[in-house]
Amino acid sequence: MIKFINVCKKFKNDCIPLDNVNLHITQGQVVVICGPSGAGKSTLLRVIPQLESVDHGEIIVDGFSVTKSRTDLMAVRAEVGMVFQQFNLFPHKTAIQNIMLAPMKVRGFSRKKARENAMILLERVGLENKADNYPVQLSGGEQQRVAIARSLAMEPRIMLFDEPTSALDPELIQEVLDVMISLAKEGGMTMVCVSHEIGFAKNVADRVIFMDNGAILEDGTPSDVLLSPQHRRAKEFMSNVLHVNN
Ligand code: ADP
Repeated sequence: MIKFINVCKKFKNDCIPLDNVNLHITQGQVVVICGPSGAGKSTLLRVIPQLESVDHGEIIVDGFSVTKSRTDLMAVRAEVGMVFQQFNLFPHKTAIQNIMLAPMKVRGFSRKKARENAMILLERVGLENKADNYPVQLSGGEQQRVAIARSLAMEPRIMLFDEPTSALDPELIQEVLDVMISLAKEGGMTMVCVSHEIGFAKNVADRVIFMDNGAILEDGTPSDVLLSPQHRRAKEFMSNVLHVNN
């Protein structure tokens, strides 16, 4: 569960990426966030594990108020996986070593157990034959699938995806979306994805949110928000995005 109560965030340059945001995402929901560049989508994701602080309001993650100073942020962060546009794999470690690292360091897994788990995850993202490749020996799509497996290795209850396909060549996008689709279809895990992949939103999202200027302007089912948005900005945006995707 993720709850935002009157959350405001302002940068020093007076830019307001979160302008009194209220939001309640229940456990297991798959939510796609879309909107123009600069709308505040990335900031909305980044404040959940407090990679960015907020200026006002409260954020509750699985019952813990992450905006209260006494909360054990490391414990909350261990429950939240994050996949970024850039894959951020350790270049000097192989695919399997990248996946084994956090479970050994943070969860105290033995090397054997971490390796067994990592192998299962590599199979899940279709890369069992690339376990010993270094990132430089993997395509962008493969690197992103390893990055997803690395996040899953911590067995998170919540996964946050920040434009995970936008740095990929067009022909590599689908293999990453397929992994995300299978995760969404398995159910149980809360997924919040900043993405303009309308097909993904239409097929697997429970809910689509449209943001502009730090505010949530639309929040509803994929067909409501994508096909019949109410706000003028959302209508303009959807007509451009849907046009490009068709
Ligand atoms: P989006 O993900 O929708 O493109 P962001 O959340 O990345 O939007 O950014 C929202 C706004 O905040 C943008 O105008 C961006 O330039 C600004 N911004 C983001 N990070 C910082 C920062 N660290 N300092 C100042 N401004 C920032």
